[in-house]
Amino acid sequence: MPDHNESALSRWPVLRQVKNLDPLGLSNSAVSPRTESLAARTKKVDKVAASVCPYCAVGCGQLVYVKDEKIIDIEGDPASPISHGTLCPKGAATFQLVTGSNRVTNVLYRRPYGTKWETIPLDKAMDMVAERVKKTRDANWEGKSENGEPLRRTMAIAHLGGATLDNEENYLIKKLFTGLGIIQVENQARI
Ligand code: SF4
Repeated sequence: MPDHNESALSRWPVLRQVKNLDPLGLSNSAVSPRTESLAARTKKVDKVAASVCPYCAVGCGQLVYVKDEKIIDIEGDPASPISHGTLCPKGAATFQLVTGSNRVTNVLYRRPYGTKWETIPLDKAMDMVAERVKKTRDANWEGKSENGEPLRRTMAIAHLGGATLDNEENYLIKKLFTGLGIIQVENQARI
């Protein structure tokens, strides 16, 4: 029998399971030269940073793998007491949060009665937001109640944060809005 046939026969799964004392085929008989040559891309990286999934209040632990100053993968952190290395489908796709080609990186603005989005500079967008907050606050300021009790608030502005905001960002947002007299402040992760 030619060599290549002998080789094919020796690779027959049942023979390998018998030879390796691996009746269920879950151990070394399931390994081929090809699988042995493969390694996860997370094996050869420059650094691994421990982080927390930004998507919801569960706070699953993540490991961020960096090579050549670029993130090459984000996986669950087995050391996390919250998630033990697991991530839900949304958290498992966090890598795309930084690398996804569909990610919008410019400020888009649709003016009143406009039918399409316009790209505007970030500085301009920030000024527009600040001007509108000031104008709305001034026009709807409640200094005192009907009984003369101090209110110092506006009910015309509300804030709903996204779950990608972390504790520190939410702390600053609450400080800012409370300082402006805005009392309707919520976060998606809390809802
Ligand atoms: S989005 Fe999923 S992976 Fe992320 S913290 Fe929430 S449950 Fe965990």
